[in-house]
Amino acid sequence: MICPCCGSTSIETKEIKKVMENDIFSHAILLPTLVINITSNKCLQCSEIGDFENRNSEILEKAKIYIREKSMSNFFIRLDNECIKLTYVARKLGLPMNILQTIRDKNDYSDTAYSIIRMVFMLENIWGVKREI
Ligand SMILES: [Zn+2]
Repeated sequence: MICPCCGSTSIETKEIKKVMENDIFSHAILLPTLVINITSNKCLQCSEIGDFENRNSEILEKAKIYIREKSMSNFFIRLDNECIKLTYVARKLGLPMNILQTIRDKNDYSDTAYSIIRMVFMLENIWGVKREI
């Protein structure tokens, strides 16, 4: 391994724990805090600090996917627990009637699906009242 700044091979490597910052949505559905181990390199010649071999990006990406999947799963569980039907939510928002069920059935964790779920979650008047179709 070499320093990307000065080319030195005198590199110190440390494993550090990083707490993943969940977004508001994740916090609100009580997603446990996620702590991951990432690598930090320091050049002993010029003091440059970073992830010189780009080892962390894959770990960070997997952690983000985990948070997203868990958040969406917990969201649907909460709807079930509060007896809120997906069709009611879709009608309330003017969404296609089957879109939420499709997201759930297909385990769709795409950016679009995640955005829709977050938007639904933010509507306070969805929660707390039992709704029928
Ligand atoms: Zn250096």
